[in-house]
Amino acid sequence: PAPGGAAPLEALDPEQRAAAEITDGALLLLAGPGTGKTRTLTHRIAHLVLDLGVPPEQCLAITFTRRAADELRERLGALLGEAGGRVPAMTFHALGLSLLREHAQGAGVAPPAIAGERERTALLAAALGVSDRRAARLLADIAALKRRYPRHADARGALASGEIDRHVDRAWKVYEDELAARGLLDLDDLIGHAVLLLEEQSGALAAARERARYLSIDEYQDIDERQYRLVRALVAPGGNVCAIGDPDQAIYGFRGADVGFFFRFQQDFPAARVVRLKRNYRSSRPIVEAALQVIAPSPTLGARELLPSAGGVELVAVHESPTEAAEAERVVHTIERMLGGSTFFSMDSGRVGDPAGSGEYSFSDFAVLYRTEVQSERLREALARSGMPFQRRSDRRLAERAGSEALARAVAGTPPGPLAARLKAAAARLREEVAQPGLAGAPPAAVAAEEGAAFLGEADVDAALELHLALAERCGGDLDRFLIELAVCAEIDAWDPRADRISLLTLHAAKGLEFRVVFLVGCEDGLLPLRFPGRDETDVAEERRLFYVGMTRARERLFLTRAMQRARHGKVVETEVSPFVREVEERLLQRAGPSPEAQRGSRAGADRQMKLF
Ligand code: ATP
Ligand code: MG
Repeated sequence: PAPGGAAPLEALDPEQRAAAEITDGALLLLAGPGTGKTRTLTHRIAHLVLDLGVPPEQCLAITFTRRAADELRERLGALLGEAGGRVPAMTFHALGLSLLREHAQGAGVAPPAIAGERERTALLAAALGVSDRRAARLLADIAALKRRYPRHADARGALASGEIDRHVDRAWKVYEDELAARGLLDLDDLIGHAVLLLEEQSGALAAARERARYLSIDEYQDIDERQYRLVRALVAPGGNVCAIGDPDQAIYGFRGADVGFFFRFQQDFPAARVVRLKRNYRSSRPIVEAALQVIAPSPTLGARELLPSAGGVELVAVHESPTEAAEAERVVHTIERMLGGSTFFSMDSGRVGDPAGSGEYSFSDFAVLYRTEVQSERLREALARSGMPFQRRSDRRLAERAGSEALARAVAGTPPGPLAARLKAAAARLREEVAQPGLAGAPPAAVAAEEGAAFLGEADVDAALELHLALAERCGGDLDRFLIELAVCAEIDAWDPRADRISLLTLHAAKGLEFRVVFLVGCEDGLLPLRFPGRDETDVAEERRLFYVGMTRARERLFLTRAMQRARHGKVVETEVSPFVREVEERLLQRAGPSPEAQRGSRAGADRQMKLF
């Protein structure tokens, strides 16, 4: 029996339960946000293990982000206890890396190392004798081609037909050779090479399929061609596969994801059963209704049904502030007021009391979501001033660059010798561990350091060791201190889902998560949807889905906030409200005038705001 003593399926409603009981063959679970898709996925695995006796090791569960994988492991741990830790639940990247590592181990060759962003740009720039900028642009073109063709050689047909620019073609070959000469892979290769491994080596395929006897994939609407090929390879003919998703939440088209793979599921697996869920357990009625109004113009197959069933009647708040700084301050003040507990005075409703009526808030109940990473700067400043704890998972590229530079700087100070050797070994070890499912239990500093180290190439370390600064002095030769330093320098906050901190997240990173209170900041045309001057490639439909994803993260309170003026592309401009906010009927909104602080700060801004609304 489960640790709680209850049978796993008892915690599901009849529709969810029907889905969880389909364990043989292919299953497509198609449903809106907050309907319990992920809950059904984890309980279905618990059912397989506890009720049907399937070994946990055979229940591979794949998702997209590290945070979502952490969450899956956490939920499985709660349901299954020790056996939960044996369920391989991981991201596509971690799966790719672990398949490649296992194969390397079996073949007695060195495991692959991952090239950092800075490193791969520098490497290509040097090899071609071009600027870093040019190299970065070529790498973006190469990355787009690699979605379809994992290796240069695989693209022969397209190359022959003249479909590919010859500069890109040559750069690709050079890049591939440079990586190979150093035993490096880039992040795309983790999945691309794993696909080739499974398609070309029957031994590796059999071992992988053993792990994927009962395969589940969450957020299937965001799968790209490479990931799709991996999934197809993992499912044996007539095998068991459960894909879960919501086409309304497809937000990675810009990176090559194709919701077409989701719709093709029934063709790929003709015997597939399809289950739809309708009841939203997450958000209050006004939040569900407002979100449905925003997504309404988006095309859908059949009727879009999402029935609110959670309590709560607070309207969706719309806050406008004169400037970006005032917007950030206002978010912070609102959180402080709500944290004031059951006696706080609600400036929005003019009532005294906890608006949600369901207990006091703690820091981890709050999330601030934004479209672009730069927006987090003001929020971090304001939160830091307030002294409230917060955590942020930085954008992968930023983290990668910062991590790589921090390590290079730190290692640069280490004279060749035993410490340098230890650091290098530690970096290699940590890089390997990043793919391990057991990570959730590791101490935060180690996890953070590991994340930084995971992106470091051996070459960086080697180069840095020619140099002569004094890390030993800074860290006293203490490896743990060094790792903590690295984590701090790299600004890669250890993301601990259990920590009582306010979350700062991009909208993309918030996928699949939920919070009692959500602030969606920067609700302005140009940010949502995001536009760049002089470019008209904005995919407004995808931006709409992203906005919808953001709104549906909220359980009890949703704040849509906006600055009347914002610095964009080096200029301060007057903003227009996001067209997505305009889709929401007035009856669901609660517009608050500018806060007293903001009014004192900018009378003019406040007056203008009144006129616009
Ligand atoms: P998303 O599309 O955003 O990923 P989802 O469909 O995966 O959403 P979950 O995260 O699984 O939804 O569930 C949303 C919330 O509703 C969770 O807090 C979950 O525990 C709760 N929930 C789901 N089903 C039930 C149920 N049958 N009884 C009680 N609570 C439920
Ligand atoms: Mg989910």
